[in-house]
Amino acid sequence: MSHVAADRYAWAEPEVEDLGGGVYRIPLPLPLDGLRAVNVYAITDDGGVDLIDAGMALVPARERLTAALRQIGYELGDIRNFFVTHMHIDHYSLAVELRKNFRSVISLGEGERANLIATRELINGSHTRNKIFGSESLRRLGAPGLADELSELDGRPAIVDWEDPDRWLADGTDLELRTRTLRAVHTPGHTRGHLIFHDAAAQIMFAGDHVLPHITPSIGFEPAGNRMALRDYLSSLARTLALPDARLLPAHGPVTDSTHERVNELLAHHDVRLAEIHQAVLAGHATPYEVAKAIKWTRRQRLFGDLDLFSQVMSINETAAHLEVLAIQGQVTREVSADGADTYQAAPLAS
Ligand SMILES: [Zn+2]
Repeated sequence: MSHVAADRYAWAEPEVEDLGGGVYRIPLPLPLDGLRAVNVYAITDDGGVDLIDAGMALVPARERLTAALRQIGYELGDIRNFFVTHMHIDHYSLAVELRKNFRSVISLGEGERANLIATRELINGSHTRNKIFGSESLRRLGAPGLADELSELDGRPAIVDWEDPDRWLADGTDLELRTRTLRAVHTPGHTRGHLIFHDAAAQIMFAGDHVLPHITPSIGFEPAGNRMALRDYLSSLARTLALPDARLLPAHGPVTDSTHERVNELLAHHDVRLAEIHQAVLAGHATPYEVAKAIKWTRRQRLFGDLDLFSQVMSINETAAHLEVLAIQGQVTREVSADGADTYQAAPLAS
């Protein structure tokens, strides 16, 4: 591994980072290729710990959290609250598992209710063919072949209980902790109920997956689906810019100095992406699947065909989200083909 690559993942090393003011960054391991770790943040005082995000319900993550808390003088039983940014498994599931043994209280954005309901339906319900969310919509996105491939994978056993949190948080809720006040700000896009937690006094922002320093967050990859995910996400980025700038404490990647700086980069990225996708439609690619195959992926400009199956599914979802924004902007129009796929055409030029 080159030095550059080593530095790029330095944040994921199993070390506790002291951010000052009783706040610590604790990276917990993930079994995912692209994402090596998820940061949970411990906000400490004499009486205990409040955690932002929880990690994934796996033994190595639980052991790492136990060791990290010990290092700063606490036990798992000292966790009073889990304030979880969104319902994705790498953020939420360890909170549910630890709640079985300890008295911690889990809070989650109320917009995630639909996602938890959809997840439980997916796992327990009659859709036995499609245990993996995203596969049903692939037909509409013009990729029925990929939907079949996904269905053939063994339905992954439910490794977590998708229980509700103790408390649903509304947009604008002030969380009065012992050492600080965090405002929960609804930032839909990555998921429909995503929250960031902003401490205006200390100028820090717990950004979850809304703003990540190294990668662009996936958009609308959620069990309940959200056709307008990118429109929502771009509005949420604008909303974040309207808050005072703050240190960025992301769920994946290192802490950086400015949330605003990264938000501006993300807005620029999506502008470029919208232009590329518009060009692909002008060139005659019609379904989200066709368009996804016509453009390059990841910062390394990879071909769609070189991505793994899950990345392909994510890419088609991202493409569809961009196409919907182009439709809202009036640059393309959407129709439905005879076999039920969404197709996009260049809008007639306005005179
Ligand atoms: Zn996520």
